[in-house]
Amino acid sequence: MVVRKRCSDTQKQIARFNEARKTAKEEYERLFGRALKEVGSNNAEIFRADVVLLDDVDYIDSVKNIINSQQVNAEYAIAVTIDNFTKMMAGLEDTYIRERAKDVAEVFNKVIEILCEGEARNKAYDEPVILFANDLTPSEIVMLDKTNIIGFVMAENSSNSHTAILSRSLNIPSLIGVDLFGYVDQRGNISLGDEISPEFEGKMAILDGYSGRLIVEPSEEEIAIYKKRMEKEAHNKALLDVMKGKETVTQSGKKINLYANINDEQDVATALINDAEGVGLYRSEYLYMGMDYEPSEGEQFAMYRRIVENIGGKCLIIRTADIGADKQLPYMEFDAEDNPALGYRGIRVSLDKKEMFTTQLRAIYRASYYGNIAIMFPMITSVEEVKAIKEIVESVKAELKEEGYPYRECELGIMIETPAAVMISDLLAAQVDFFSIGTNDLSQYTLAVDRTNNRVQKYYNPHHEAILRQIKMTIDNAHANNCRAGICGEMASDPEIVRKLVEFGIDDISVTPANVLFVREIIRNLQ
Ligand code: PEP
Ligand code: MG
Repeated sequence: MVVRKRCSDTQKQIARFNEARKTAKEEYERLFGRALKEVGSNNAEIFRADVVLLDDVDYIDSVKNIINSQQVNAEYAIAVTIDNFTKMMAGLEDTYIRERAKDVAEVFNKVIEILCEGEARNKAYDEPVILFANDLTPSEIVMLDKTNIIGFVMAENSSNSHTAILSRSLNIPSLIGVDLFGYVDQRGNISLGDEISPEFEGKMAILDGYSGRLIVEPSEEEIAIYKKRMEKEAHNKALLDVMKGKETVTQSGKKINLYANINDEQDVATALINDAEGVGLYRSEYLYMGMDYEPSEGEQFAMYRRIVENIGGKCLIIRTADIGADKQLPYMEFDAEDNPALGYRGIRVSLDKKEMFTTQLRAIYRASYYGNIAIMFPMITSVEEVKAIKEIVESVKAELKEEGYPYRECELGIMIETPAAVMISDLLAAQVDFFSIGTNDLSQYTLAVDRTNNRVQKYYNPHHEAILRQIKMTIDNAHANNCRAGICGEMASDPEIVRKLVEFGIDDISVTPANVLFVREIIRNLQ
């Protein structure tokens, strides 16, 4: 995330630049030391070379010049420098110089990363802002102090990505995957050489997340229109409050369990305010993403216990960490993949990194003693995976018993979010207590649409007959095998889909906390 900011204190920016360069050097030195032990001096030498590249005089001069002449933040000055040098070198014949240019760009990108990490953790805005960025990953959003952030505008990413889901559950209006005012090139990248931010920086704007519009310096008339719309929205919300305390039941008496999806501890309050009947999906990976090291068993136990105690006897379905694809951990480097969504992700990581998985399961079972916890596993594609999980679960329970930790039996469920899982849902249903259909991923895998790729979003259609048929098939197979069927994908808040889900016989629906009462109202109006 590189945002251009006007900074009159240029000396401070230069000091930040030098400090981050020093940290980068220390990191490469550490890598050198480790590589020396693991792969020998010849191979380790590249990290030594990286340390030298960080002293590239041309780069350093350029960054300082940009900071001084444009009065901008260090990370922006570095990004522009990288962009300028990359363009300049691209046309050169000499492959050695071209390769070296690439290496220098890489080490200075590391400096940007260090600066951004520090910023993301520390940054707090003292007045309401709409944050512009090329892209924000879910973990960057987690790190931000969001007290005064009232909107996000991002050039990359798409409205079905985890980034978008996260901003929705935070109730922050966002424009995601937008052509930032024509400054975006054909690949969807903002050209950093263009002066984008000054045009918008410090100006008042209206961000309309419903229609996907950003109105910079709105007229009096537009402000009045939007003020009215906001009042109307507040009024509608108040109307929905009427739904609080009411049962989620259709006119003909069919009861649906209406739960909330949460990403962290803060969401519990929103879920309770909106009268959710429990938590149908706790995306536990956000706990991992919000830290700069892997959370220990004790830290996880404390968090799960606090959450389950806070929801006072209602059920908490913890999904084990769904790491990978667009949810990466800064402290756990995975090899780059051509197709991350089809790669090392979810249960595949858990079954591979057994110690990490066992640590999480131990923490969950220890917390189970303090409330009503169920466990759910992401990205399942085979019965063998479920059997392997159950074996690990059994050994975790045996271990805890031996060590004297009290725990309760937890219902076990799986996400149905791959077409493979749908097709064998009869076999899977015989293995578990419940299903939760994850239509966000099921749509991506069924329709062959990368959910983070904005260019193909028009093909991302959860209303597609292929998705509806799979939902029906999953529910039928679940019920035929004595298994509960739920859904936790974003489409479950869509009135038309809710009607269909109830018709298909869904048992549990889990939605963004802010949509709980809205969905209850729809269900109560159904036959
Ligand atoms: C889903 O895939 O539908 C889902 C709920 O999980 P996530 O959005 O976290 O991938
Ligand atoms: Mg999913």
